[in-house]
Amino acid sequence: MARTLENGEHMGPEEFRRWGHAVIDWLAAYQQAIEKFPVLARVEPGEIRAALPPAAPERGEPFDAVLRDLDEIILPGITHWQSPGFHAFFPSNNSGPSILGELLSAGLGVQGMMWTTSPACTELETHVLDWLVDMLALPAAFRSDGEGGGVIQDTASSATLCALLAARERATDFAANENGCDGRLVAYASNQAHSSVEKAVKIAGLGRRNLRLIDVDERFAMRPEALGRQIEEDRAAGLLPAFACATVGTTASNGLDPLAPIGRICDEEDVWLHVDAAMSGTAALCPEHRHIHDGLELADSYCFNPHKWMFTNFDCDCFWVADRAELIKTLSVLPEYLRNRATESGAVIDYRDWQVPLGRRFRALKLWLVIRHYGVEGLRAHVRRHVELAQRLAGWIEASADFELLAPAPLNLVCFHHRGGDDISRRLLERLNAGGELFMSHALLNGVYTLRLCIGQTHTEAEHVERAWRLIRETAAELEASG
Ligand code: PLP
Repeated sequence: MARTLENGEHMGPEEFRRWGHAVIDWLAAYQQAIEKFPVLARVEPGEIRAALPPAAPERGEPFDAVLRDLDEIILPGITHWQSPGFHAFFPSNNSGPSILGELLSAGLGVQGMMWTTSPACTELETHVLDWLVDMLALPAAFRSDGEGGGVIQDTASSATLCALLAARERATDFAANENGCDGRLVAYASNQAHSSVEKAVKIAGLGRRNLRLIDVDERFAMRPEALGRQIEEDRAAGLLPAFACATVGTTASNGLDPLAPIGRICDEEDVWLHVDAAMSGTAALCPEHRHIHDGLELADSYCFNPHKWMFTNFDCDCFWVADRAELIKTLSVLPEYLRNRATESGAVIDYRDWQVPLGRRFRALKLWLVIRHYGVEGLRAHVRRHVELAQRLAGWIEASADFELLAPAPLNLVCFHHRGGDDISRRLLERLNAGGELFMSHALLNGVYTLRLCIGQTHTEAEHVERAWRLIRETAAELEASG
């Protein structure tokens, strides 16, 4: 039995062991009970804060009081992203090995800003990212044994920003870093690209007016010829095309931009091509889905998020560049207090030069644990299951008289509506989400209100998708009956 701690006393190894076991027990019980909770939190704004004391405790509190409050105050305000009924946005799934990897990372408490501040943190990261190049059959240029290499960023948004910054510097021969932007640099993405591209353009100083949103085809994929025309127009106007972001799996509808023709245009025009495969990149674990990356060898950078669909808890975005020197030269700043012999030897990677922040934690651990736990075959099997379930649902919708697909479903996202139109589709979504058994989100596709059902949660099985389809049909019938 661990003793009661004095006020302000550190939690020593014995108490840590006791409460650590209790926390793992709590999480295991949460996993077992997760389907009992409404997927979407039902609290009103301010409700959680109102249940918390207005001021921090003056004296330390016993740990079991914290666990009690987790149940009573925090859980009611949780939207259960790990519920098998979670189908909104894109998933942010996790798994046992990933959670344990996160715990180990916190326990080791490493800050891996440079190789020398924890060599294993850097080397495991480089190694696992090289593994992933092979696992996803990405171009060999991204491997660290050539001129490229991979790094873990917090999010795809940060990856896009870093790619854009490197593109900005390459286009200006590193003058923008010295003098700032002169308003001539132009960036391109499809009108379906994620909002993080617009954010990056604002942060990087290109100016939102210099982001061109390129038209898409009926499959919501960028039209390469429209990109080519826009680049020509911009050059003719004396501007400097610098960066294009192609998306493999757009957020609204899982549109797949054609990388090969886009890549050829970017290559000819010396425009940096970044490929954002935030969720859908994971599908390339399976050879039958690798066509989504056709043409990727023409890209300068690429990212996907194991924290979306590869059972690795948030945050974990994997980002690769074909030429690491450009990225490093863009982001590197070396104050005296960070100088060290390893860096000066040139024999090590200092990941602080590959990202915006200086500090970084040991994210590679959880990724390593996930890959070792499942094995590549195991990961593939889960991706295949999700895709198969989504295809089954898409088939039911196609065959139904009341519902209609609004976009192709190439992988694990199904976009549809009720044939009755926007109003009934919107009310249907609201009622389904209020019911607590599932959570979906929406998008506008060609101006039409669209329900999105994404299948990527770790524990989603056929029974959950069958239940979702039943609920969708029954709820729509109720709405129709009530007018
Ligand atoms: N890119 C795409 C295609 C996305 O769908 C998302 C989020 O869903 C993002 C980027 C942003 O992801 P993150 O939260 O990792 O920045």
